[in-house]
Amino acid sequence: MNLVGDFHVHTVASGDAFSTIDELSRRAKKLKLKVLAITDHGPAMPASAHRYHFNSLADNVKESNGVRILPGVEANIIHEDGSLDLPEKTIKKLSFVIISFHVFSWYKDNVESNTNALINCINKYDNIKAIAHLNRPYYELDIEKIVPLLVEKHIVVELNNKALAKDKENWEAFKKQVLYMEEKGVKFIISSDGHSLEQLGDFVEALNFVDYCNLKKENIVNTSVEKLKAYLALDL
Ligand SMILES: [Zn+2]
Ligand SMILES: [Zn+2]
Repeated sequence: MNLVGDFHVHTVASGDAFSTIDELSRRAKKLKLKVLAITDHGPAMPASAHRYHFNSLADNVKESNGVRILPGVEANIIHEDGSLDLPEKTIKKLSFVIISFHVFSWYKDNVESNTNALINCINKYDNIKAIAHLNRPYYELDIEKIVPLLVEKHIVVELNNKALAKDKENWEAFKKQVLYMEEKGVKFIISSDGHSLEQLGDFVEALNFVDYCNLKKENIVNTSVEKLKAYLALDL
């Protein structure tokens, strides 16, 4: 399967990642990737960028070494009311907002609270594009309650290479959710969640998972620029 871009990439600005946009875009070009979404951690994570970073990224970076750069964030849900860890004004400026749960930023071992938080977040901000690593077992969610919103608002579910490689024991449970979501019309995006140059564009485990689920290629949005534009309204 040919993928045209990597939509979850960390730079040195995250503090737990080690490459610059210049290095990453050079590597992306070699890998024949046309688009990179730069999605450093939001400020609620211990290794993260200041909010100024995100404003500046949106204002100053559009392209690097011939690769389209989408300024983004891997924002943290920090409250059951759905709040993210950046001001709404900053979130609005970003082209690729991924939302995620992380143990460091907010943790509730409670399906109802997690589900409420996700639904409230989706309803609170109008430019969320993707949900990160739902396969990780730490945050249980009521998928049936979330799916209609994902379909309505064209929010894609990430098949995160790094998280899938880490949590293989959870593949079977995640497969059930993914097939349910696919049947209901949810679309997916494959990303590396790379924290180093070598990890950029590494989709091996995510593609293995796609085979494992027998997911349809047509339901993976980063298989073509046209699909990305049409489904996620990205300016590419
Ligand atoms: Zn994450
Ligand atoms: Zn990440």
